[in-house]
Amino acid sequence: MIIVMKSGCPRQEIELLFTELSRWKIVPEISVGKHKVAIGLVGDTAEIDVQQVQNLSPFIEQVLRVKKPFKRASLEFRYGEPSDVKVSTPSETITFGQNHPIVVIAGPCSVESEEMIVETALRVKAAGAKFLRGGAYKPRTSPYAFQGHGESALDWLATARSVSGLGIITEVMDGAELEMVASIADILQVGARNMQNFSLLKKVGATGKPVLLKRGLSATIEDWLMSAEYILAAGNPNVILCERGIRTFDREYTRNTLDISAIPVLRSLTHLPIAVDPSHGTGKSELVTPMAMAALAAGCDSLMVEVHPNPQKALSDGPQSLNFASFEEFMREMAPLGKFFGRWQEQKYNTKSSETQPLLSLSSWKIGVL
Ligand code: PEP
Ligand code: MN
Repeated sequence: MIIVMKSGCPRQEIELLFTELSRWKIVPEISVGKHKVAIGLVGDTAEIDVQQVQNLSPFIEQVLRVKKPFKRASLEFRYGEPSDVKVSTPSETITFGQNHPIVVIAGPCSVESEEMIVETALRVKAAGAKFLRGGAYKPRTSPYAFQGHGESALDWLATARSVSGLGIITEVMDGAELEMVASIADILQVGARNMQNFSLLKKVGATGKPVLLKRGLSATIEDWLMSAEYILAAGNPNVILCERGIRTFDREYTRNTLDISAIPVLRSLTHLPIAVDPSHGTGKSELVTPMAMAALAAGCDSLMVEVHPNPQKALSDGPQSLNFASFEEFMREMAPLGKFFGRWQEQKYNTKSSETQPLLSLSSWKIGVL
């Protein structure tokens, strides 16, 4: 149940309401938006009469029942206002949300070496990415495939973070590694295969760190929002949803089917920011730009793209990874569309050609480590 307060409602009135509601043995939760304040009532509210709540204060504008099984994730919980997820990175605070520029996240599938991740960080930053992605712990279908460099890769990500100033997003697969991963990540990624690992969701919820929650391979939109609800219910409001394609029947021409329709559907159901990963969504580098354009046009808030210095040699997901030149091309191609939708931030850097791109920071980092 949601209580929407009238604008200009005095603070004392909300405090009085809280005291009264606590007597009813339900947990009131305040949600402060740009224009309004709402109070969410979580718990067994089935027996509570809407009119009885309405009578509690003359400052109550409306009392709504949330009929959907996801409560905190629902759009009603924020009375129709989208939520922003703010993430501090070493160089700036970045906001994911509907009224902000598209946030581009780029980097390799797996962190393969320190030099490779630092070089990638500098190159994707120069092209306009705001976050560096890269897996230290990799969820691979085969136990014999490369599983990620683990702790060493986390150290390399930390170096890339401090050299480039980019925020880091990396996957946490297991509660046992959570503390270590959270000590270097600015955003914790929960991968598709762990979307319904409820014990992991509770644990990432307890950290309070921003979480990118990828859609499960065969998850319905409701399953996905219920997983987000686990993180929100554990007290962490900083959840970003990431559509990464779902399993359908074609295995030859696409790896997954990127569900573009999920973007407007989510918009109508939830206040949470929406990211799209066209790399895993298609499995093919040549499909990344057209699907990213479709995602942007459908209203996503962030794009996550796999970028590798030499995709042919990548230890994982080479066929869907862009190289540096094609990532720069990607950014150039996305810009006019992003501007058309009022969602593109002008880049400080010249991305005309990868050959002419000065990489002074990379060479100075190399001198520093040699
Ligand atoms: C990844 O981002 O590298 C990854 C493994 O993604 P997903 O969980 O969507 O397969
Ligand atoms: Mn990958």
